This record gives sequence, C-alpha cells and structure tokens, in this order.
Amino acid sequence: MVHFVGAGPGAPDLITIRGKNLLEQADVIIFAGSLVNPELLSYAKEGCEIHDSKDLNLDEVIEIMKRADSEGKDIVRLHTGDPSIYGAVREQMDILDENGIAYESVPGVSSFCGAAAALNMEYTLPGITQSVIITRMEGRTPVPEAESVEALSKHDATMVFFLSSGDTKRLSERLMNAGMPGDTPCAIVYKATWKDEKKYICTLESLFETAKAHDIKKTALIIVGESVAQSGYEKSRLYAPEFTTEYRKGTDADA
Ligand code: SAH
Repeated sequence: MVHFVGAGPGAPDLITIRGKNLLEQADVIIFAGSLVNPELLSYAKEGCEIHDSKDLNLDEVIEIMKRADSEGKDIVRLHTGDPSIYGAVREQMDILDENGIAYESVPGVSSFCGAAAALNMEYTLPGITQSVIITRMEGRTPVPEAESVEALSKHDATMVFFLSSGDTKRLSERLMNAGMPGDTPCAIVYKATWKDEKKYICTLESLFETAKAHDIKKTALIIVGESVAQSGYEKSRLYAPEFTTEYRKGTDADA
C-alpha cells in the first residue's frame, strides 16, 4: 500500500502524528528532497529503503512503488506541505489505480499555513477580506486565463503566491498594471518554519527590491493584500459580548 503523506512546511515536528507513525512503519520512503526537511527521515526504521524523488522521473517513482508493493511492503510517498497543493499526486494515483495498487492520503500543514504562523497573521480579517486565494504565476505549468494574476487581483482578497518568488519583478508589475496600488502591503516568507526561515514585510512597489536585497529566489511565498497589514479590521461577531451563539448566551439574548 502507498501512503501519500504531507510532510508539513519544514519543521520536523509539524508533520501530523499519523504521518509520523506511517514514517516509522514504512519499509520504503520516497521523499521530495527539494523541499522536504531531511530531518524527517530520522523517524524511519532501521533498514528502511529511502529514495529522493528529486532525482527520479514519474516512471521511476512508479516502478519503485510497484516493485515494493508486489513484495508486500508499506510505502510512504512524502510530499512537502499538504499533498493536495501543487503536489502532482493525481498523476501518481491514476497510475496506481491502473495497476490495482491501493493508496491513501494523509494531510499535512501547507506552507501557506506555516507562513501565516511565521507572521502571526490571520488571512481572513473581518472588514478586510474573508477569502484567501492560493495561486501562482505560470511557469512550465500554464495557469488558466480566468485565473491570471490580473484577474484574481480584482477580488481584493488575500493572495498567496506559490512557485513565484523567482520573478517578483514581473509579479509586482503585473499586479500594479492591473490596478493594485503600489502601497499594497506584501510579505515574503522564505522557508517558513525551517531554522533558517526569513520574513519581510514590504509593499508591492518594494517587493522586487526586498526580494533582491535578501537574495530570495525560491522556497518562498509571496503574500499580497491589505490583510498583511493586520490592522483596520472589525472584531469577530463570534466573540462579540452581545452575540448569542449555540454555546454562549450573549447580552442581547433577551433583546
Ligand atoms: N504542497 C506544498 C507546495 C508545493 S509547491 C505546500 O502545501 O506547501 C512548492 C512551493 O511551495 C515553493 O516554490 C514555495 O513557493 C512554497 N513552499 C514550500 N515550502 C515552503 C516553506 N517552508 N516556506 C515558504 N514557501 C514554501
């Protein structure tokens, strides 16, 4: 059986307990070495066969899974963050289906949550925005036109850009050309939750200069939107003293 496990954003204690248990039991681990913290491999049992998928193509990954599964071995495919986000898991699952190999998914803490934690940030501030857009600029993978940076910027939601820190010049220019003010707050979070994590608050106008000054080109998220300022919001209705909920009688209960 193959377990697709989310490794979390970096810090080894941010994997789930279920994920850690599976790593401890695994006979074979295939991990995404470009982003998964190798410290996680210390959870592997002695004699566990370990492969780094950054040196393998899809066919080679599948070959390892097929062989190990036919030997009755337990396989962990360890993906960075949460496997559902830019994880390229579906293509693996479809081939496993074709080969009658069973699999399951175990979620992980995505790096966009790790980045929010690094900034002590709430993405969904009442009165500012109630939505988070997880997206990317196109690279080798195209992005549908309706989801272009320009189109998504119209929502004034919090935008979290994955896989885009290599071209912050173009990203900021595109957003400003689409009408976003140059003083829109932005954050760059590099290696969120890793020991060498770095974070910078800037504006759309200074995004490129900030990234350049700190040599940020990869393994970073760019967060754009008014919510980055973490001010000017309205308090949550849920905790308002007068507000009655299913669990708590508020001061308006008799009103
Ligand atoms: N499945 C992963 C994302 C994989 S795509 C997740 O849920 O986080 C790879 C991109 O994720 C990188 O280019 C970078 O933009 C981002 N990323 C992954 N780990 C990161 C981290 N610890 N800090 C900042 N960005 C990270």
